[in-house]
Amino acid sequence: MTHFSKRFKAAAALALCAVLAACSSLPASLPSSATPESSAAPASSSSAPAADGELLTVRFLDVGQADSALIRCGDDAMLIDGGNVADSSLVAAVLQSEGLDTLDVVAATHAHEDHVGGLSGALNVCTAQRVIAPVTQYDSQAFSDFVRYTEAQGLSVEVPAAGDTFSLGGAQVTVLGPVQEYDDTNNTSLVLRVDFGGTSFLFTGDMERDAEEDLLAQWGEEALRADVLKVGHHGSDTSTSYPFLRAVMPQIAVISVGAGNSYGHPDDAVLSRLSDEGAAVYRTDECGDVTVVSDGETLTVTTQKHTAPDAGASSFPASSASVASADEESYIGNLNSKKFHLPSCSSLPKEDNRIYFATRDAAVEAGYTPCGLCNP
Ligand SMILES: [Zn+2]
Ligand SMILES: [Zn+2]
Repeated sequence: MTHFSKRFKAAAALALCAVLAACSSLPASLPSSATPESSAAPASSSSAPAADGELLTVRFLDVGQADSALIRCGDDAMLIDGGNVADSSLVAAVLQSEGLDTLDVVAATHAHEDHVGGLSGALNVCTAQRVIAPVTQYDSQAFSDFVRYTEAQGLSVEVPAAGDTFSLGGAQVTVLGPVQEYDDTNNTSLVLRVDFGGTSFLFTGDMERDAEEDLLAQWGEEALRADVLKVGHHGSDTSTSYPFLRAVMPQIAVISVGAGNSYGHPDDAVLSRLSDEGAAVYRTDECGDVTVVSDGETLTVTTQKHTAPDAGASSFPASSASVASADEESYIGNLNSKKFHLPSCSSLPKEDNRIYFATRDAAVEAGYTPCGLCNP
């Protein structure tokens, strides 16, 4: 079972949140120092190694009772879902704080507001190369707005076919589902598999048991095996059946869920099934943003609570999601030049061009390069 032999480590977040211990506890069965195997790719995934030094970063945004994940690889970026309409400004702020003005792919897994709502915010600040969804029409204001913002960019919403693949930097994305038509909107969810080197991620939207069963029948277990699973439907008991979970066998399971939500998500039965399968569970209601970085062999997880009390509809500071608050700033980045400086540098950017980082690593991780003058 090469699948579990990849080295897996949970790194402390840049700014430790009080509940981090609850977020990063790993099942004892996970070998934290096992030697990574270069041939660890599941048979179904691309066997091509990751390009030298290239990383795949998947950031599951804490958008409450909703879904949103930003995937970056090389120079490419894809946003899968954008949270609720009320998360539009948060999602836009995150994209801006990451220095993104282009998204290679914007994917709406399905038409429900908690997935498609905030994509308008993303399309408002980023140029999309491609927008995909399982349908092109749905009777809701949120979906109409999503279509309107897409068309305003001269694009139309594309419906990909199961089996389609495309590249994202050195990663390969495969559309696994839906494999047929469904009346239930959750089951229409796009199921996206991302392979990078020997590591793999599975995004399932709100897919429920029926679609899980059909997916399994269509592709077989091997094709579904993945290291990281975005748990279906916010941890509802209507998803994440045992047969599906046994095919995926995730090391890491991420549940995007709102604290105290009225649905009782995540369901205890789902948590119990994930625990039975030995997955380390990260919940956005407890951890905030959950970021998984892959170098093609090793997965590193960091978690970070938003420092802003609430995203709200008005202002969500660009610095709140991934960086320190201003009073603990140590490094100052320039949003335009993507250089970072010491606060004492003589060539600091203008106030509204600044982004603050608590640590040097945070600046580097965000893609910023050190200023040649102050050599931070
Ligand atoms: Zn949902
Ligand atoms: Zn849904």
